[in-house]
Order: sequence, then structure tokens, then C-alpha cells
Amino acid sequence: MNPFNAFIWPAWRSALGSLLLATAMQPALAEDPYPSRPITWVVPFAAGGPTDAIARNVAQRVSTVLGNTIVIENVPGAGGTVGAAKVARARPDGYTLFVGHTGTMAAAPYLFKTLKYDPAKDFVPVFRFPDTPMVLLVKNGSRFKTATELLDEARKNPGKLTFGTAGVGSSSHLAAEHLASTAKVKFTFIPYKGTGPAMSDLMGGQIDAMLDQTNVSLPQTQGGRLTALALTSRARMDMFPNVPNLTERELPGFLAFTWYGIYAPTGTPQNVVDTLSKAYTKALADAEFTGALRKQGIDVLPAERVGPEALKAFTASEAVKWEKVIKDAGIPPQ
Ligand code: ASP
Repeated sequence: MNPFNAFIWPAWRSALGSLLLATAMQPALAEDPYPSRPITWVVPFAAGGPTDAIARNVAQRVSTVLGNTIVIENVPGAGGTVGAAKVARARPDGYTLFVGHTGTMAAAPYLFKTLKYDPAKDFVPVFRFPDTPMVLLVKNGSRFKTATELLDEARKNPGKLTFGTAGVGSSSHLAAEHLASTAKVKFTFIPYKGTGPAMSDLMGGQIDAMLDQTNVSLPQTQGGRLTALALTSRARMDMFPNVPNLTERELPGFLAFTWYGIYAPTGTPQNVVDTLSKAYTKALADAEFTGALRKQGIDVLPAERVGPEALKAFTASEAVKWEKVIKDAGIPPQ
């Protein structure tokens, strides 16, 4: 016997064994437990705005529950529709998800003549974030001391007051259009790539007013850079002392808020959707997390209203609502 055979044979056999083992493991590798690498959440507005802030808050908790990194990618433009279109075309593997909201997932089809995605067909709802009420803001020291004064001026001089928005179809734009049509006044809207840049111009006096989410507006009003004239919620809020609701005086029945949710490209496996929504439900049970959100005026929803099915039904009902608001307000599609 070739003396080398004794050496080569076992080596050859063990190489073959490893090969067979590796082949046998192939399907297991292809179905790695989810998640096994960082997940990207696309925020369709500039960093520093309310959508970005709440997404980072939620992502941090969900990633802790999952034991996995969640990266926020800001893809601003066209009221959030640029980011939405990007995720609609992403691989449906659970590693690229979209932070959708009132505008991108419900109103956009009625505001844009050509939209590069279909919110209902190209996405599956995963879970719904907490809602955020909105606040009517002016620069500190503005000549408008109340919402009535601002609306009276807009009534006297249609189109003279400029309202900053986070872009056509953003929730700040939608809420302000809704306000204008309910109050029967006309504003001139100035679109930005997100609340961050719009708010800077409001502070700088380049625009007259904004209607935006409470979470990012709060530090600016507390810091004395902006003044809150009115809230759009039903109840008053401790963190905005002495700020009335629009519904109390100026516009009975007028309520506005921004909702958000995580959406995955259609084709994403059900186990991915379930894993993510269960992780969020777990995060919601953490009183420290929900308490910190409430301190920013954010409205934390109970677990039974945030799962994939609840978000699906809610998104569909909001599409019906915004189609009507947009048509009633006569907002022409862009
Ligand atoms: N507040 C923005 C909106 O109106 C979005 C943002 O910048 O977060 O939709």
C-alpha cells in the first residue's frame, strides 16, 4: 500500500465530508433566522424633523428587543414620496423597511399625477407607531398672538400669509390645507424637504407660520424660539401650558394628527412581519419608553390598534378620508 494513501485518504474523506456538510447546510444558511444583519428604516424626510425623531426613538427600542441593529436612512424629497418609491422597489427580505405616514401612505395618490408606487399594492403594513398631535406655530415675537388673529388676517388678505410645509403631501401640508379649507381662508404654502429646514426659516422670519408635530416643536417653544398658538388635539397638553385647542374656539370639531407606521415591500415573508410587530408590541410594554414619548405630547396607542391587520384597515380608511379632504379643498394634483 502506498504509504501516502493512509494519509491522503482520511484527508480526502474529511474534505468530502465537509463539502457534503456544507451542501446540507445550504438551505439552513439561506433561511438564516431573521434578523441576522442590520435592518434599514427609510425615513422620507430630512434628519432632525418629527418623523426622523420618532423613528429613531422607536427603532432604538425595537432593535433592543430584536438584539439587532436598525439603521435610519433619510431619503427626503417630494413630500416623502421619493423614499417611498425607493423602498417599494427594494428586495422584500425584511432588511429595507419604510417609515410611512399620513401623506405617503394615504394622501399621496390623490396629490400626485404620477406616483412611482402604489401604497396599497406595493407595501404590506407591519406595525403602527404612536400618533402625534400637531401645533400651530409662529416665530417668537410674531404680531399674531392667537390663532384667531392669524386666521382673521388670512381671511382679510387671501394668500398673503406664508405657511411652511415639509413638502407637498407631507402631514404638515395636509393639516394646513385642512385648516385653510375648514376656516375658509387661503395660505401660500412654501414646501421644504422636511420640518427641520422649514422650522429654521420660521425662526428666521422667512415664513409666517407652520402646523407641525408636537415632538419636535416642543423644545423650540420651551426654548422661546417659537410660539405655539393652538393645538389640534381634543384635550389640552401639560407640556404646552395655556395653549388652547383650535376646536375650542376657532374651529369646533377640527382635529389633526400625524400617524406613522412601518411598511415592508410586498413579498416580504410573513414571519418577518410577525417578528417585527411582536418586537414592537414588546417595546410598548416598557413604561420608560412610552412615558418618554408621552412627555413629548405623543399619543401612544394600545397594542390591539398597532398590529399589521389594524394598520392595514386604518391605512385604507385614511386613504378614503384624505381623498375626500383633498377633493373638498380643491387641491389640484401636482
Ligand atoms: N413633519 C413632516 C410632515 O409634515 C415630516 C418631517 O419632517 O418629519 O410630514
